[in-house]
Amino acid sequence: MFAQPLYLIGEVFKLFTLRCYIQAKTTHYKQVLTMIIESNIDTSTKALNQPSVLSNEIHGHHFALETLQKAFDHDRLHHAYLFHGPEGIGKIRVATVLARLLLCTSTLIELIDGQQNQHACGQCKSCKRINPLINRHEGAYHPDLHYITRSRDSNGKLAKEIKIAPIRELQSSLSLGAFEGGRVVVIIEDVDRLGLSAANALLKTLEEPLQNVHFLLTTSSLNAVLPTIKSRAQSLRFAPLNQQIMQDLLIAFERKPFVTNQDEPNPFNPLDDSQRFSLAQLSGGSIGRALSLWSQGGMLRVENLIQSSDLNGGPQDILNALAFAKSLEKTDDDELKQWIHILRCWYRDALVLMHNPQAEDLFFHRLKEYSYKRAQILGLNRLLWRLNALDECENHIFRRIGSNRKLIIETLCLYLAGLDALTQKALKLS
Ligand SMILES: [Zn+2]
Repeated sequence: MFAQPLYLIGEVFKLFTLRCYIQAKTTHYKQVLTMIIESNIDTSTKALNQPSVLSNEIHGHHFALETLQKAFDHDRLHHAYLFHGPEGIGKIRVATVLARLLLCTSTLIELIDGQQNQHACGQCKSCKRINPLINRHEGAYHPDLHYITRSRDSNGKLAKEIKIAPIRELQSSLSLGAFEGGRVVVIIEDVDRLGLSAANALLKTLEEPLQNVHFLLTTSSLNAVLPTIKSRAQSLRFAPLNQQIMQDLLIAFERKPFVTNQDEPNPFNPLDDSQRFSLAQLSGGSIGRALSLWSQGGMLRVENLIQSSDLNGGPQDILNALAFAKSLEKTDDDELKQWIHILRCWYRDALVLMHNPQAEDLFFHRLKEYSYKRAQILGLNRLLWRLNALDECENHIFRRIGSNRKLIIETLCLYLAGLDALTQKALKLS
């Protein structure tokens, strides 16, 4: 007779356990989600109550700068750092500012919130030869600051990898000690691009750290860095810049671009608020990407690009798509990746507008009306198919699934130009 109540108690207990489990999972997922969201934004606002002199020179990256400043002030700098984070967010600039501080011959001390912060004087012979506003030490030369990156060919195209020659040169220079008797700083950009023999040679130098030699390595693809190099350097993560910093930087560039030759004309056209907002949004927190887009014709070119790729599948459209594909084939991988990203953002806008024509959270405000009309014409399926085609193209080209780059780009352009509609018709007929 007790069987039924016992059974009920058992069921209630099971339900209670399940509820606790779900609650625990939900809390866990919420925590994980918060961590992911927080880890993807620059934590500048958190660090504002801990200002440092170093962070006064750089927009954003306060956490990384605070870490470096504290380590420097307490003489606890690691002999090698690995700065990792998306490209174009200022890792090299931070490395150059730190290099200037390390090489300054008469550092100054400033008291901030009761903490002594050391900073470069900006006046000594050493400081005058390092200009953090110009990423590479162009024009000036400091014999104890080594800067290694991929070489460029006569057309300005970057080599695929860093060869062993500059690493050997560096090693023989390091064996002579500091030219000016102080520290030596080595900045290596894109350390993931070291060729195998270059990486092995560098590894030997990192394994036997020399006194007063500091390595500042940067990468935008941490997974591609050799684990042996990773394990010998202190990793420091750089987050994408937040929207406000991006917009402030764009305004600063509009007023005064940081060019080597001050007589050169400003390469950046003025932006209106909406264009500046779109540019900042599209660049995903990378000022380098924003400047590259801006200098190549800015948002007008981007908007043209979108409209010339989004066609209806007529005979002339197909010819236009092939011509468009031809122009894309000439771009390098970085530019192609950027182009795919732009289109993905636009198709996302179209999807948002399809469900809410009043939506304001858009990448391309100025194209709102156009995007809404196109969303109505294309419909949900075709928008999703085209987004899928962009993913496929990216997978094939950048994950090296397919080898024929030309064919993959042509297929994508034809698809976006309306071939998706033809495929749909063909499917219906069959
Ligand atoms: Zn100085």
